[in-house]
Amino acid sequence: MSTNEKKQRNEEEYEIVDRSKQGVEGVFIWGQMMPNNEPHDVTFELLGEGRKIADKLNTKLTAVLIGYNVKKWAQELIYRGADRVIVVDHEKLKTFAVLPYTQVIYDIIQKEKPEVFLFGATTFGRELAPRVAARVHTGLSADCTMFDVGDYVNRRKKLKFENVLYMVRPSFGESKLATILCPLNFPQMASARPGIFIPLKRDETRKGEIIDFTPEFSEKDFVVDVLDVNVGGGEQIDLKGAKIIVSGGRGVGEKGFDMLREFVKVLREKGYKAELGASRGAVEAGYISSKHQVGQTGTTVRPDVYIAIGISGAIQHLAGMKESKYIIAINKDHEAPIFSVATFGIVGDYQDVVPIMIEKVRKGEMVFPVTQ
Ligand SMILES: Cc1cc2nc3c(=O)[nH]c(=O)nc-3n(C[C@H](O)[C@H](O)[C@H](O)COP(=O)(O)OP(=O)(O)OC[C@H]3O[C@@H](n4cnc5c(N)ncnc54)[C@H](O)[C@@H]3O)c2cc1C
Repeated sequence: MSTNEKKQRNEEEYEIVDRSKQGVEGVFIWGQMMPNNEPHDVTFELLGEGRKIADKLNTKLTAVLIGYNVKKWAQELIYRGADRVIVVDHEKLKTFAVLPYTQVIYDIIQKEKPEVFLFGATTFGRELAPRVAARVHTGLSADCTMFDVGDYVNRRKKLKFENVLYMVRPSFGESKLATILCPLNFPQMASARPGIFIPLKRDETRKGEIIDFTPEFSEKDFVVDVLDVNVGGGEQIDLKGAKIIVSGGRGVGEKGFDMLREFVKVLREKGYKAELGASRGAVEAGYISSKHQVGQTGTTVRPDVYIAIGISGAIQHLAGMKESKYIIAINKDHEAPIFSVATFGIVGDYQDVVPIMIEKVRKGEMVFPVTQ
């Protein structure tokens, strides 16, 4: 008998762990809302990926929508893939606060017993998901870029778990992919990187169920009072149509992006069709919204001039901008890979270089070769 046959026969003798007897069912996602009370892009991305997982598990996909005056979005989430939407609409949940949101999701998990629960790895999702995981005593695979469903055999315990969630994320400085399983605890919980998963096409023929959930809070859930929220407005970003893209990376930090916005403003005042871009490093650090992301999982651009500032030039970034006509790279590390695709490279601190460029453009001493 070959080793493979032996292995297969052994596995046939293993006890199969039947999920349905553990009383858990369904794929859930957190339908994150933005401060302007519209769903975050990642909500649609999670619905797209959650739909695939739910279909593989032959179960329903439920979105949990928390906020105030959010019920109007429930139907939209059904058009985008959900079978059920649990709506928690309460004035006290108007702005994201980690303690009451954790409590609400904890209560829903206790009641519904989902098999899988996914969050977006956004700034809020990264704060919320670990708290929920800790409270329900399960694991959390953070920052996943791929999911699948398959079996898992534990030879030592002679157990075979069927239909386990495979949660895949880059590790070791993004050079390897790690597949993480959590077959013993529920829900199997993960956060998904924004901008990776593909939303489904909106389908108005989709039908679903909208369920109201009444939260129960205590005073200790509201230790933080949000006094005011300033929303940045519904900025329209046209990366594809821009002739000049000023793009910032993790190296410029949050404050640096104010300088880059000023750069774009001055270019526009001079009549250029300029736009602000970003690397995923900057998006993940929370310096800028994912709408600005250029690269493999962001927008692919081909402007006349691409100015990469504080961007290392990872292969996934280059994939989205290397076809630009002229590439100007500003980086303090002369070995940064971005210089390998740059037409002009400036080795230096962006804080020294960019103000000079802004001033020269303002005075008309620096012009760029753009087509009409
Ligand atoms: C599946 C997958 C998809 C991905 N998709 C994308 C994508 O679409 N787009 C994307 O961008 N990335 C993507 N990535 C991520 C990518 O691998 C990198 O992690 C990311 O591009 C790094 O961003 P960064 O260059 O801003 O940050 P870092 O790599 O941290 O680089 C920062 C740079 O700033 C420089 N710097 C620091 N301080 C200064 C200063 N004061 N002045 C000048 N320079 C300074 C540093 O020398 C460094 O080169 C993806 C990764 C995976 C695994």
